[in-house]
Amino acid sequence: MTENLLNLLLKDLKTNHRENERLSDQVLSTLKCLFPRIGLGALDLVDNCKVEKLIGASTKRSCFKVIGSSRTPYFCYISANYCSCPAFKYSVLRNEENYTCKHVLAALLSDAMNLTKNREIPDKELSEILRQM
Ligand SMILES: [Zn+2]
Repeated sequence: MTENLLNLLLKDLKTNHRENERLSDQVLSTLKCLFPRIGLGALDLVDNCKVEKLIGASTKRSCFKVIGSSRTPYFCYISANYCSCPAFKYSVLRNEENYTCKHVLAALLSDAMNLTKNREIPDKELSEILRQM
């Protein structure tokens, strides 16, 4: 359910941002409605350029690095809906209270609006990050 609505939201966001270079009130209220606790926080991370995509130099494997509000870097896979942060472990995996955390949401929003900075890193470094996730 949330996943389908999220996909619709991301599609709207993509078109909306491309055409207007800003988000409409409708997109913003859908975001707040779907994610009352993390929606605006996630948007804040995007606005403050906290989202980066790390790409392995030759493997081209990738993951997102999102700097959290406490300046801690967290690593996310958006396709698998996974984040290395404690909130994800507790409220998503353990208690199933939320569909995702604000870092994954920030990565999804940033990706949809084409605002993510890509950074190529050595494959070894990326493997190390993925191993620790
Ligand atoms: Zn997270």
